[in-house]
Amino acid sequence: MRLPDSFLDALKASNDIVQVMSSYVELKRAGRDYVCSCPFHSERTPSCHVFTDTQSFYCFGCGAAGDVINFVRLIEHFDYMESVRFLAQRAGMTVPENGVDDSGAKRRTRLLEMNRTAARYFRDVLLSPEGREGLDYLAGRQLTPNTIRKYGLGFAPDGWHNLHYYLRTKGYSDDEMEEGALLTRKNNSVYDKFRKRVMFPIIDRRGNIIAFGGRTLEKDAPAKYLNSDETIVFHKRDNLFSLNFAKNTKEKFLILCEGYMDVISLNQAGFDNAVATLGTAITPQQARVMKQYASEVVISYDADGAGQNATLKAINLLGEAGVTARVLNIPDAKDPDEYIKKFGAEAFRQILTGTSTALDHEFRRLKNGIDTSSPAGQAEFLKKAVGFLADIRNDTDRVVYISEAAKISSQPINAINELVKDRIKRNGRIEQRSEERELIRGTVKRDAINPDSLTFPREEKAERGIIAYLFHSPDMLARVEKKLTKDDFPTEFNRRVYDFIANCIKNGEDISIGSIGSEFSAEETARITGICRQADRLPYSKPRLDEYIDVLLEHKEHESEKPVTELTDDEMLRRIDEIRRRKSGVSG
Ligand SMILES: [Zn+2]
Repeated sequence: MRLPDSFLDALKASNDIVQVMSSYVELKRAGRDYVCSCPFHSERTPSCHVFTDTQSFYCFGCGAAGDVINFVRLIEHFDYMESVRFLAQRAGMTVPENGVDDSGAKRRTRLLEMNRTAARYFRDVLLSPEGREGLDYLAGRQLTPNTIRKYGLGFAPDGWHNLHYYLRTKGYSDDEMEEGALLTRKNNSVYDKFRKRVMFPIIDRRGNIIAFGGRTLEKDAPAKYLNSDETIVFHKRDNLFSLNFAKNTKEKFLILCEGYMDVISLNQAGFDNAVATLGTAITPQQARVMKQYASEVVISYDADGAGQNATLKAINLLGEAGVTARVLNIPDAKDPDEYIKKFGAEAFRQILTGTSTALDHEFRRLKNGIDTSSPAGQAEFLKKAVGFLADIRNDTDRVVYISEAAKISSQPINAINELVKDRIKRNGRIEQRSEERELIRGTVKRDAINPDSLTFPREEKAERGIIAYLFHSPDMLARVEKKLTKDDFPTEFNRRVYDFIANCIKNGEDISIGSIGSEFSAEETARITGICRQADRLPYSKPRLDEYIDVLLEHKEHESEKPVTELTDDEMLRRIDEIRRRKSGVSG
């Protein structure tokens, strides 16, 4: 199960972490090292650091960390062996085969192949007499044969077992089709999930067909679109439709559309930078994926109520990811598609560049439905505006909009300024109070990886110290083992880490982050990297190590002195025994 250290070393040497990471995020040089906006949490200022000397990364914001293998694992949702394979392929290396478990990778490859076969089938049906209806629909939307081919569009014919039986002839089992979300199981029978639908393959950044979206041709269907369920190759929340094209765009911004058809018609009109979420509202992950390819996103959602709510949500998430959001207002047409058909692509390009900023958009919405020419309307507007203005983080922006609000409400700027300042103060107090409440409830910073760290903060720190020390000086294991066993580590997670490292050292194995990844999850590996990274700055002196050991020994001592009320029966007996022994010692 364990790969040879020599192989892992060579693998990492041929996959420079800076090069690998820069194909996912934009790295900025910082001295010898690099920083980037973290792809694993949303942030405005970059806190993810890449260290060239240790070939590792560490996010000071969320704790994501590790070597190049762990980075690939986290960002691609691979398991350990899949990331190793991925990097090996990238570097043209062969992974040693003996005893290696690659079932995950095999299943993944198999599903991707099956999806490709299914897509080919749907395409062939579309071009056959059976697909007439589908082709009519696409022609009605004025898609050219070229566009249909480019997006690999197809048609799932009516009936329960069309794709099902076809894939059987290609050697796929029902279980595989079910796992790939192409079949639905109900009451012990299986049938095609997609029936009488125009099919849109969903393709990831590497060109794999990972899922399908299907548009029904039934007039009165409850939902127009049906998407594949999540599978081991399909994670809705961090993929975007048409990103395989948009990632290569020369434009500086992406256009975020509501649906697949919007994206495809924009693409046909020459806008290769259009993307859409996959049948759900935008997620923080998708916002960060967009950030990897553009610093600006133009939101092009429907103008109806649902579309407006979705727009607000997108503005917030994109803002959190550090992307500038602008909102497209399309005059005289219901969507980009209609606008382009009426006025042409060039006119559309004009309104794209003239889009309002997200703030503008929200500010204008405040006035909706309010008659600001009446004093009552002005007061109502002001009430809404103060909350909005207090939430603007950028001072310059705030001043601009306060003066706007002053004009609209016919109130002096100073007065509004005071109101806003008061509100900001109050917001601050509310935030502080809720933080205090959380502290009291103990809900602050729950530690998912090492939940015991809250119970034993001092000991946990000492445990980390010992672990980091052993990473740095494996020869010190004997010194630790003289005084401690793994059971003296109070927190379960650190106990496991210590046990793993101690075993490695005893077996004469290398304890790189790479080898840890074979035993621990990607998140756990990140934590362990963090432990070593934080401890990097500590002096590695024996007295220091002894201090850590003493903390754990003290704890052990203290453990045996739990208040009587908290003792279990066994502990109680042991305690009595101890006291008796001590007493007899004193008297005798
Ligand atoms: Zn982070």
